Amino acid sequence: MTKWVYGFGDGSAEGRADMKNLLGGKGTGLAEMNHLGLPVPPGFTISTEACGYFYAHERSYPAELREQVECALAGIERSLGARFGDPDNPLLVSVRSGARVSMPGMMDTVLNLGLNDRVVEGLARKSGDERFAYDSYRRFIQMYGQVVLGIENHFEELIENHKLDSGVLLDTDLSADDWRILVAGFKDLVAEELGRPFPEDPQEQLWGAIGAVFGSWMNPRAVTYRRLHDIPADWGTAVNVQAMVFGNMGPDCATGVAFTRNPSTGANEFYGEYLVNAQGEDVVAGIRTPQHLTIAGKQANKSVLPAMEEVMPEILAELHAVRQTLEDHYRDMQDIEFTVQRGRLWMLQTRSGKRTAQAALKIAVSLVEEGLLTREQAVRRIDPASLDQLLHPTLDPKAKTAILARGLPASPGAASGEIVFTAEEAESRASRGEAVILVRIETSPEDIHGMHAARGILTTRGGMTSHAAVVARGMGRPCVAGAGDLRVDYAARTITARNIAVKAGEVITIDGSTGEVMLGAVPTIQPELSGDFATLMGWTDTIRRMKVRANAETAADARMARRFGAEGIGLSRTEHMFFQADRIGAMRRVIMAEDETGRRAGLAQLLPMQRDDFAEIFRIMKGFPVTIRLLDPPLHEFLPKTPDEFVEMARLTGKDVDAVRHRALVLHEVNPMLGHRGCRLGITYPEIYEMQAAAIFEAAVLVTKETGGMVAPEIMVPLVATRKEFDILKAIIVRVGKEVMERAGIKVAYLLGTMIELPRAALRAGEIAESAEFFSFGTNDLTQTVFGLSRDDATSFAGAYQRLGIFEHDPFVTLDVDGVGELVRLAAERGRAARPGLKLGICGEHGGDPASVGFCQTVGLDYVSCSPFRVPIARLAAAQAALAGQGRDATV
Ligand code: ADP
Ligand code: MG
Ligand code: MG
Repeated sequence: MTKWVYGFGDGSAEGRADMKNLLGGKGTGLAEMNHLGLPVPPGFTISTEACGYFYAHERSYPAELREQVECALAGIERSLGARFGDPDNPLLVSVRSGARVSMPGMMDTVLNLGLNDRVVEGLARKSGDERFAYDSYRRFIQMYGQVVLGIENHFEELIENHKLDSGVLLDTDLSADDWRILVAGFKDLVAEELGRPFPEDPQEQLWGAIGAVFGSWMNPRAVTYRRLHDIPADWGTAVNVQAMVFGNMGPDCATGVAFTRNPSTGANEFYGEYLVNAQGEDVVAGIRTPQHLTIAGKQANKSVLPAMEEVMPEILAELHAVRQTLEDHYRDMQDIEFTVQRGRLWMLQTRSGKRTAQAALKIAVSLVEEGLLTREQAVRRIDPASLDQLLHPTLDPKAKTAILARGLPASPGAASGEIVFTAEEAESRASRGEAVILVRIETSPEDIHGMHAARGILTTRGGMTSHAAVVARGMGRPCVAGAGDLRVDYAARTITARNIAVKAGEVITIDGSTGEVMLGAVPTIQPELSGDFATLMGWTDTIRRMKVRANAETAADARMARRFGAEGIGLSRTEHMFFQADRIGAMRRVIMAEDETGRRAGLAQLLPMQRDDFAEIFRIMKGFPVTIRLLDPPLHEFLPKTPDEFVEMARLTGKDVDAVRHRALVLHEVNPMLGHRGCRLGITYPEIYEMQAAAIFEAAVLVTKETGGMVAPEIMVPLVATRKEFDILKAIIVRVGKEVMERAGIKVAYLLGTMIELPRAALRAGEIAESAEFFSFGTNDLTQTVFGLSRDDATSFAGAYQRLGIFEHDPFVTLDVDGVGELVRLAAERGRAARPGLKLGICGEHGGDPASVGFCQTVGLDYVSCSPFRVPIARLAAAQAALAGQGRDATV
């Protein structure tokens, strides 16, 4: 016979903490508190398997369930010496939902179940408090009516009208008779709406509530929440039925909630609120102002209402002991609910408490210091993605803000600056050292240089995977995307929302962590990278196997990468170095050149700039490896498009406008993503890669002279599909290297390798590895080419694909392990078979995605590389991946 029901009470329970899947979070918490000897009203949990059965059998119950529930209910009756539905000695229960993870959208709790017109009289007699009895009854009708019977909440209106009629201000001033009249009114309301009377039979009430809990698992709110949080539908919810305890029986009664530590700072202090003479969720419902548990809490929050420490000191002492017991047991901060009935404390819930990222760090580190956790367990506790909150400038919480509009929190961090509307303006203003926010309806690849130059990006269209959002996250620029109530008028150079117009040049502030757009400059606070953060990060470094590098091409980004703990550069995109105002001209000349001589002239101008850039990065990286990718320009990003731009280009390059137009036409590509780029450019215009190789070697030689050898360049060829391509370019690079080193009389050790970003390269990895010394998986392009999908064009259908479950995750955010991952695995195997020491890394955006980092560990990559802001996330994810691989501490 299947066991569907698990009882608890009087210090014992059939459930345990590790039965969350079966009993849900609330059910296991109640069971575990019984094992710990804490005072918990007796009750039972109907398992999630019963929920599974319910949905597999047209919303019906397993045959044995009724009997098991009756039996468990009888157990509660025995324990309390009261009977469900007995007017002389009534037992009342609460019916509570509870899935594995706490889930808004599920059924709300029904309290005081088991009351009817006769039982309420018994409750009044037994408690000697008529007012309490009728207050409980009306609460029950109200909750049951709304939650189980689906009746709209017109109950509060009835209460308000009655108060007006009888000249009473507060609910607490209503008498037993008032509540009696209101109960009658409530029941009429139900009968009217429902077409039948309010159910008087306690058994019918109970099964109605159980059915409503199971039914709520599939309500639209719950379904949406599950979809957003990747919660499988087949988990189901449990139902908890528990004897009522009453916090609303008078001045020696109370109800409250608490965190065992401060959930916003993580400080080891008891933090909670309570209300005297109240029930259930009154504390959080905002009807009365809750009071603080401790005097310290009261003072810190400038409350004038008495603390529990003053009103009920013995109860607070008891709660302190409960707090200690729970923390020692769970080794984590708990979120608890309790009720005091006539001077006696009852525990109603415990679960791991939600906390800010900052609090999570402090708590994990403190628990290690207190000897409750090992370092490994602490490292496992932190959600890598949550670190994002800590790594960006944030708004000063003390600052006043005037919100203009809201959009999506597309890329975290806060930034202020003057409004500009074009990438060109962003770039030229930024090059004069001015702070600007680039505001666009939406962005496109042509805007990249402006996005790079801006402090932050604001768009009015597009979602979390729009071009602006993806690129901004990659660059670590704060971004608010899709701020739909803002109107951008490019012609008038204004943005307007709520009838407030802001002009170009005026200052706004955006918060990419919340999606808010504010007027004026709001002061920001720089991230704090010492203290608990540094401590925990230090632990991750001793645990992980994979190295973590950063994608960076500017000195500023390289410095930031070091600050965040990067152990080298995994990708330096040389084309990004040409976006700066003083270089783009030379770059355009190279592109516009019709012959080799013209190109060489432009390249000669670029060489010293590149050399200086590389030298600076080598200096900053102090001997850590620096992977420099040879030019892979999206050519169209440098090409003029409009007549005005043709004229400007002609002026810049000294050509006539017709020549410019002609050249643009020749270079125009139908599909630039698959066009004349990457090593294809190096093959057809070898002088470009020659120049870059020379710049790299000259920089390496220079810094070797300065430092005595702290330089480790890794030169990387992009978009290789065949070994032949690589070999042709390798010959050039090796030759240039030899020349530069001979000229300088210095030898510099370097590696020469390739990106693996095309399916053919992955398949032919064996032969490519005979020639290449390292592979770096460029999983952005690899994802595009494996799926045959352009990232910039995917936004129009990616949403539908995710809704329909065709994409479980956005494949540009989380690596598609089954498809793209299979190719990575295969290339790694074939590459290593051909060259045992082959160095393997990843440099796509996936290098900073925790789930993808886990995958990289399983394929045996040597390092992951990601944008500087994601380096700490990757360090933590890599440590967690290493622990997962060892199977250590799997329980935490
Ligand atoms: P939620 O998941 O929304 O927290 P709960 O089931 O915990 O819902 O209950 C809502 C409120 O009712 C909480 O304040 C809880 O403490 C209170 N409550 C639940 N069961 C009982 C009970 N048996 N006796 C007294 N109060 C209860
Ligand atoms: Mg609730
Ligand atoms: Mg609760």
